[in-house]
Amino acid sequence: MFEINDNYLKLPGSYLFSTIGKKVNAFTQANPDKPIIRLGIGDVTLPLCPKVIEALHSAVDEMADASTFKGYAPDLGYEFLRSAIANQDYRARGVEIEIDEIFISDGAKSDSGNIGDIFSVNNKIAVCDPVYPVYVDTNAMSGRTGEYMAKEERWSNVIYMPCLEENNFAPKLPSETPDMIYLCFPNNPTGSTISKEELQKWVDFANEKGAVIIYDAAYEAYISQENVPHSIYECQGAKTCAIELRSFSKNAGFTGTRLGFTVIPKELKSGDVALNSLWARRHGTKFNGAPYIIQKAGEAVYTEEGQAQVKEQVAYYMNNAKVIREGLADAGFRVSGGVDAPYIWLKTPDNMTSWEFFDYLLERANVVGTPGSGFGPSGEGYFRLTAFGTYENTLAAIERIKNIK
Ligand SMILES: *Cc1c(COP(=O)(O)O)cnc(C)c1O
Repeated sequence: MFEINDNYLKLPGSYLFSTIGKKVNAFTQANPDKPIIRLGIGDVTLPLCPKVIEALHSAVDEMADASTFKGYAPDLGYEFLRSAIANQDYRARGVEIEIDEIFISDGAKSDSGNIGDIFSVNNKIAVCDPVYPVYVDTNAMSGRTGEYMAKEERWSNVIYMPCLEENNFAPKLPSETPDMIYLCFPNNPTGSTISKEELQKWVDFANEKGAVIIYDAAYEAYISQENVPHSIYECQGAKTCAIELRSFSKNAGFTGTRLGFTVIPKELKSGDVALNSLWARRHGTKFNGAPYIIQKAGEAVYTEEGQAQVKEQVAYYMNNAKVIREGLADAGFRVSGGVDAPYIWLKTPDNMTSWEFFDYLLERANVVGTPGSGFGPSGEGYFRLTAFGTYENTLAAIERIKNIK
């Protein structure tokens, strides 16, 4: 008889966002006269920019004609897109990445889970705490995280690296030696970043310990400060220890369209085995990448007009971030983030737990946010608000929050 992957049974019950959904539904049913504003969504809301829409239409037309029709895409992705990435995301920042070190995919979420395929189940992972839950969940599914301890809300075989206020929400180097280190900067949910000098310490640590860093740079486009690196490869020696994940989701609105890429430098090796060739092998057999139509849309992002249009969208969200950050600071909240990321992280007032504050905000201001505890044990006592709403709703939500304080 077949057996299942019983690691799935170890996953803790309800996913954060389904609990939120249930609470919001119950509230709106009981209070149909109270319109709620959502500042909890981790999804973009602006439509795809005109240059991308134009590219999509013309790629669809190509698919309609035998002379321009495209079947399976090349394993690593189309060269037109990988060249644009190598030139504009890397070379323009003084980093040389070859086009066969870039692997186009259907998004950073899939890649951050799938990358585990090329690593042993015996590796020990280290994660920022709090962070995007996908890293821990997918490692749990592969059996790399030990047992879930419900009371402590943590896995027995994971190194949690607390990101706390005293360190500006950046982790300290762990005293225990991990094999795989997940770093996400700018961070979801805290909105925090790391300077190039700080990131260099992680690269040196990984090289010294023989660990691999999986660097999630999904929010790279939101960086506004000079000394914050856009890529881990801006650090010396990163090519021998780091994989980088990128996405078109948050910078260009592709959350529903799906496009991302992963960089695996050829120098990154375990013994004499290059991870690049393992991942290439995987792409050849397990993976169909992203459709031609979508890769053409991605190429349009790198045109001059496309760049101007997506930058305008990022600026729109970051203006919301400023409204939230400044409004809440005025109202006496302790806030961080929102400068290099579309996320604002706030300390709950009066020692409320994250979920207590969720209920308080929903009932008193009819505003929905995300409890920090959903992103890891060190998120308890914190709360995430996001800048992806409309400007009008964002303003209105902050007014409501100010009025209950
Ligand atoms: C939204 C997000 C992503 C993007 O994932 P896609 O699959 O490309 O949509 C990746 N990492 C983090 C931390 C995110 O918040």
